[in-house]
Amino acid sequence: MRGAALDLILLGPPGAGKGTQARRLGAAFNLVQLSTGDLLRDAVVAGTKAGLAAKSIMEAGGLAPAETVIAIVDGRLDHPDISGGVIFDGFPRSIAQAEALQHLLEKRGRTLALVLSLEVNEDAVVERISGRYTCERCGEGFHDRFKRPRIEGVCDVCGSSAFQRRADDSAETVRDRLAAYRRDTAPLIEYYAQKHLLAPIDAMSTIDTVSDRIAARVSAVSKDRGVKPVP
Ligand code: AMP
Repeated sequence: MRGAALDLILLGPPGAGKGTQARRLGAAFNLVQLSTGDLLRDAVVAGTKAGLAAKSIMEAGGLAPAETVIAIVDGRLDHPDISGGVIFDGFPRSIAQAEALQHLLEKRGRTLALVLSLEVNEDAVVERISGRYTCERCGEGFHDRFKRPRIEGVCDVCGSSAFQRRADDSAETVRDRLAAYRRDTAPLIEYYAQKHLLAPIDAMSTIDTVSDRIAARVSAVSKDRGVKPVP
């Protein structure tokens, strides 16, 4: 058994690398990645009530209804696999969601360990988003310019040759997603700084360098919390 759970938030604008870094961090520290974007996309594909409520808003780059997102997170936190810790990716996206998260954690006797804020400039974000795609089978992320598969058309991780691009990664929708980030999500930086939970991370470097910076901050906080290292 490990010590206390290690619950973390990855904060940052679309294209900052939250998904990529959450996957790596999850593997390195044995934490579960909880991406509200992924859960909502699954709900859209499954045609559930939550999916129907979110579909057109997601396509337009706006924020899905808070109660839909919070209900999805609440349900996911009931799963026993999260006992070691969760990386929240894309949630919370507003002060109201941050307050809801605090409540969801408190009722389970948990507290946030750290908020990693990925800092990037906006031009880079648009470039990162417009060239990205993922492996359909295992979810590994690739990029037309920055991270091509070692063998063209074949996933480095699982060997699949099926890839997908997100419908909301078009230049026009990206602008709306950035506007939503600036308006609703960026205030969380100050909110968590005041709670002494914020760890700013320079995310303008290579994926490996950013992972190392994040791992250093998470290792330090996990030692403070008495979390035993992953063997
Ligand atoms: P992401 O994969 O995090 O970029 O999210 C894709 C889209 O899902 C966003 O543009 C929103 O429309 C929706 N979404 C994801 N997370 C949230 C959230 N926490 N609150 C509201 N909408 C969300």
